[in-house]
Amino acid sequence: MTATVFERQAPDAAVVSHALAPARQSVFWIEDAPGDRFPRFRGDIECDLAVVGGGYTGLWTALLAKRADPSARVVLLEGRRIGWAASGRNGGFCEASLTHGDENGRTRFGHEFDELQRLGMANLDEIEATIAELGLDAEFERNGAIDLATEAHQVEWLREAADGEEARFLDLEAVQAEVHSPTYLAGLLRTRDSALVHPAKLARALARACEAAGVELFEHSPVEGIGEGTTLYTPEGVVRSKRTALATNVFPSLLKRNRLATVPVYDYVLMTEPLSAAQLASIGWSGRQGLGDSANQFHYYRLTRDNRILFGGYDAVYHYGGRVRERYEDRPATFRRLASHFFTTFPQLEGLTFSHRWAGAIDTCSRFCAFFGTARGGTVAYATGYTGLDLLDGRETERTSLEMVRSRPLPFPPEPAAALGINLTRWSLDRADHREGRRNLFLRTLDAVGLGFDS
Ligand SMILES: Cc1cc2nc3c(=O)[nH]c(=O)nc-3n(C[C@H](O)[C@H](O)[C@H](O)COP(=O)(O)OP(=O)(O)OC[C@H]3O[C@@H](n4cnc5c(N)ncnc54)[C@H](O)[C@@H]3O)c2cc1C
Repeated sequence: MTATVFERQAPDAAVVSHALAPARQSVFWIEDAPGDRFPRFRGDIECDLAVVGGGYTGLWTALLAKRADPSARVVLLEGRRIGWAASGRNGGFCEASLTHGDENGRTRFGHEFDELQRLGMANLDEIEATIAELGLDAEFERNGAIDLATEAHQVEWLREAADGEEARFLDLEAVQAEVHSPTYLAGLLRTRDSALVHPAKLARALARACEAAGVELFEHSPVEGIGEGTTLYTPEGVVRSKRTALATNVFPSLLKRNRLATVPVYDYVLMTEPLSAAQLASIGWSGRQGLGDSANQFHYYRLTRDNRILFGGYDAVYHYGGRVRERYEDRPATFRRLASHFFTTFPQLEGLTFSHRWAGAIDTCSRFCAFFGTARGGTVAYATGYTGLDLLDGRETERTSLEMVRSRPLPFPPEPAAALGINLTRWSLDRADHREGRRNLFLRTLDAVGLGFDS
């Protein structure tokens, strides 16, 4: 096997230890976005739409529902705090792709891929327009993104993906002119299909917009069960709703049918201290694009408004049993690996320290992208994306007729098969990254049956 650049050019262990010493286990974004507090739900009420979950899916669903029908009574129930989970702790990459990248989309939904791309771009345009219209303070920056080749075999992948002005191939000189790293061999500059947000500020701003529109929001109000029809039970109350949207992401689904459809995969992130003007000048990056390298196990990184660098990804860890647990968020070996890869990427920043480290669980299904559906005679809809509302209305729309919306991913098997399969896949992907991208028989078989897993 060939070593990757992150192994060939690893920094001194002392550089990594020094950089990680001040990093505390805490989500930078959440600290940086103080939010309003909402009351605990108590009582017994009736409403037109109940939304369970206060992340992006729930917040956008409630906001769009209220905007579509201002007279409707819309109630949102969040088990902890609005935006505390994935929506408040992610990388903030807001991509047009609805299918976790082109290749995944083309393979799985080939016949409607162009339509999905068009809808994805329209979705990103609408997010931008709504943020501007409502004046949401989410630090939205539509700077585009650069996919990077850090190994020779990836250069051709990027050259093949180039497609005109909006996806431009950057050779060695051109990529180095954008961002200076000894690891970059080439790049693909995507100018229109990617933006950055401050994730926690977006969640908090959406909550305020919901409240201003008349949505009733409640925190610390976990829904413990769904009874007859769509009656929802919280520890101190009952919500009798005509329709319910479940936006509970990686947390145990209130619908039994969805429990094996997804698994939580932990993703880890580091945040640096703000860079000085000289440090920033040493890496260029004046275009402030989102960056990501091109291996199966890839890193994603970006600048914040105060010029810190968020650096995450690579290890994607599945914990046996498939549970969401706070103790999985601290993983010293992964943080050391990330810090080491950071200084391989930017050796000119040696001496810079990390202020924060954190992790979060990503809801992964076997086709990597959102899926949708209804239950209880069409009165309960679930979505890990943002089109659940159309399904609840029972309307035939452009979106509900998509194969992507009508089909479901294959379920994961129960333990111990889930852990065995997922870890064998991760091992195979790591091997592929060490063998010029060549996939072994196991991965080729998964590709052929449409099952997958990546970081
Ligand atoms: C470290 C990390 C980096 C990521 N980076 C990116 C990125 O750069 N770009 C990108 O597009 N995606 C990224 N993601 C994924 C992205 O954050 C999620 O897909 C997205 O936030 C999901 O939003 P959501 O509303 O569906 O779920 P969540 O934000 O998880 O919200 C679900 C909410 O439901 C609540 N809930 C659950 N069960 C109940 C219940 N029974 N009763 C009441 N409330 C309940 C939870 O408390 C939670 O607040 C990343 C994720 C992580 C963890």
